[in-house]
Amino acid sequence: MANNPSLISIVLPVFNEEEGIQKTVATLESFIDHQPQTFELIFVDDGSHDKTVEILTNAQQNFHNIRIVKFSRNFGHQLAISAGIRYTSGDAVVVMDADLQDPPSVIVDMIAKWQQGYDVVYGKRVSRDGETIFKKLTASLFYRTLKKITSVDIPLDTGDFRLMDRAVVGELRKMNETDPYVRGMVSWVGFKQTAVEYERQERFAGTSKYPLSKMIRLAMDGVTSFSTLPLQLATWFGSLSIIFSLGYLITTLFTGFGTGEFTVFALFLMFGLVLLSLGIMGAYLFRTFDASRKRPLYIVEKTSGFQSGERDIRR
Ligand code: UDP
Ligand code: MG
Repeated sequence: MANNPSLISIVLPVFNEEEGIQKTVATLESFIDHQPQTFELIFVDDGSHDKTVEILTNAQQNFHNIRIVKFSRNFGHQLAISAGIRYTSGDAVVVMDADLQDPPSVIVDMIAKWQQGYDVVYGKRVSRDGETIFKKLTASLFYRTLKKITSVDIPLDTGDFRLMDRAVVGELRKMNETDPYVRGMVSWVGFKQTAVEYERQERFAGTSKYPLSKMIRLAMDGVTSFSTLPLQLATWFGSLSIIFSLGYLITTLFTGFGTGEFTVFALFLMFGLVLLSLGIMGAYLFRTFDASRKRPLYIVEKTSGFQSGERDIRR
């Protein structure tokens, strides 16, 4: 906990944000102008194939606090965050989306809580403007289910918008998880955590870079990295169906009841449950396999804007 914050690093993962990135930079820079602390903006380009990097590189001429970490391809939002925090030098690190859905003004509240002694201040969404009912519903359902099945207390309705003390970032840097679920990892490390509530804004430009496939992947990473309960489902399914089939056998013997249709239904049900259990095991096996290959988590093609003499903690 630093009492005298001198530098705050803001990490922003970006993927094909050419339509809005200029405004994000302008908004953040004017926000920074009014703050007593010094800021650095670390943009992690997650393999954009539009003009995002070009626009950011141009912006560096006017703003010397902009740093760019460019991935060699799209590795995903969570890995972009993981990489970004490794390049920070701040006493506190803020992670936020680059589409201004997370309002910069909330950072003031986060810093205030940090100065009161909290090590993690996460943004809790009290409302989500401009998102589809489907997204709101699935997100709400997912966070609630995840909370029930994990042993780690991952706060509800919280994305990756948060402030972390240097100490927390130091711990996160030690966690080289192949398919990271950053918000879970931050809960896992512990320390003194609190929330600030905010209204999530509508995306002001461009479209969401989180299609359903990426949302499902994120949800799977959340579950497989923080709960082993699904693995026990097979045991439960198996035990229940053994009990049920014994009951059925006894009823048939004594009453002569039993129909062919029912047998077909029961067979299909069992088949479904067996395949489902196999699929769940596959998901965990995939994670283990992914981690066992020990490939680098991401590849940084180049960086710019990092001055020599700065605290260099990069890897
Ligand atoms: N993003 C990324 N890599 C990806 C997808 C998204 O770096 O593969 C970035 C994106 O540019 C944005 C942030 O992650 O800054 C959140 O993505 P988005 O706004 O599309 O997600 P949503 O708010 O719709 O959930
Ligand atoms: Mg967004």
